[in-house]
Amino acid sequence: MTNIILPLSYLIGSITFILGLKMLSHPDSARRGNLVAAAGMTIAILATIFLYTDEAGNRLGNYGWIFGGLIIGSIVGTLAAKKVQMTAMPEMVSLFNGMGGACAMLISIIEFKHHTTGISPELYEEAGTTIFTIIPGTLFITIILGMVIGSVSFAGSIIAWGKLNGKIKDFSFNGQHIINLLLLGVITVLTIYIVAARPAITITLFYTVLALSLVYGILFVFPIGGADMPVVISLLNSFTGVAAAFGGFLYNNPVMLTGGILVGSAGTILTILMCKAMNRSLKNVLIGSFGGKKVSSGASGTKEQGNYKEISLNDTAVLMAYAQKVMIIPGYGLAVAQAQHACHELEKLLNDKGVEVFYGIHPVAGRMPGHMNVLLAEADVPYEKLLEMEDANDQMGSVNVVMILGANDVVNPAAKDDPGSPIYGMPILEVEKAEHVIVNKRSMKPGYAGIENELFFRPKTSMLFGDAKKVLQDLVSELKQM
Ligand code: NDP
Repeated sequence: MTNIILPLSYLIGSITFILGLKMLSHPDSARRGNLVAAAGMTIAILATIFLYTDEAGNRLGNYGWIFGGLIIGSIVGTLAAKKVQMTAMPEMVSLFNGMGGACAMLISIIEFKHHTTGISPELYEEAGTTIFTIIPGTLFITIILGMVIGSVSFAGSIIAWGKLNGKIKDFSFNGQHIINLLLLGVITVLTIYIVAARPAITITLFYTVLALSLVYGILFVFPIGGADMPVVISLLNSFTGVAAAFGGFLYNNPVMLTGGILVGSAGTILTILMCKAMNRSLKNVLIGSFGGKKVSSGASGTKEQGNYKEISLNDTAVLMAYAQKVMIIPGYGLAVAQAQHACHELEKLLNDKGVEVFYGIHPVAGRMPGHMNVLLAEADVPYEKLLEMEDANDQMGSVNVVMILGANDVVNPAAKDDPGSPIYGMPILEVEKAEHVIVNKRSMKPGYAGIENELFFRPKTSMLFGDAKKVLQDLVSELKQM
């Protein structure tokens, strides 16, 4: 019976993981998708703990350690997830991802030790630091690749986490990218050598590759611009998936293999999509272009293009109340201000006055993929009101008022008009097709790309300065009085 239940539970774990991932692609089903995948994984984990037996028929045992770890991990994970602010999500993902990488690394180290010492002394003989072992070739390749990828992912994710929350300062030196490439070359050559030299493996060499991989993970993430971190985190996430898949091979565990492959491929696809949406190559992100350097811009109102004009709250309320169609463009500033609820209130109020209101969602608005969708879902904004960039641009010509809330780069016309701009080629929300453009932000300071936005100086545009939450609350009060 056990023979059937264990593989069956792995099958359930694999299928629910695939279904859960699919369900995550729509906000209506995302929560359920998460639960479905988690339930499947719980079944697979419990089945492994209680039903797995080795070739000699022994069960896992060590239940105190296993459940102690599970309970502590669950408590820490639940509290962290409940406490985290939306804008701090990338750093939490990074930390958790780092833990996944560390697990893959530890699995490889333990399995290396397991196969080279202690277990069957008659199978190896020791000569200095060199041991002669019978670890099968495929198993050994799996161990060493899992160790290299897992440790790069662990070290890199921890640096990314520290950089995002400000605990670790940016650090770079001339020629760092060359040193990184050299280090990667040394790790690759040593790995190939160790695999080729099997069964005579130098233990010191194994741990040297481990140390070099950890150093590479640190140096690889250090020079990357702080705001490019989400792309790097997504890449590191795919590394962890691949490292976990090696663990699946190692233990001949199908659910670990499926999970690892899915995380690896999902992370890779996400990385590519994020780069595409920013119109940047992965190489450009990794070597760092605009993420790190900021072009200074004061709060001055004049620029070569001319002056910007301001609009009052009262005029904004009038313009919106008498519009037929309003498009709200949310950006990073809306998330920082935590103004999503006030924004939804404004939308409902306008709806009550007969105004059609939609949201135009740029794929890289905010600081993580789907940031705006999650933010607005939190305030119960109906999903049908969220238009993807292409649909929003198609409708823009019939929009009376575009209200830009804490967005900057995703509406910057330089992406279309200025071949010299670092964001040239990035698709944008073409807000100028609308009748009126109102921009809410606190100052004339640039956004993430660190560049001026000519939109603010164009004739159709009016600036409504202030913190997004305060401005929206005041607008709601104005509209209520009308
Ligand atoms: P931006 O970072 O371009 O601009 C945000 C604007 O919000 C700033 O100009 C800031 O101006 C304003 N702001 C900040 N706080 C507030 C506040 N409390 N109230 C009102 N306004 C505020 O954001 P976008 O969303 O337009 O663009 C996202 C950028 O991030 C893109 O360049 C994208 O490539 C990048 N990126 C996105 C990722 C993703 O996955 N989504 C990943 C990595 C990078 P001020 O200070 O004057 O108020």
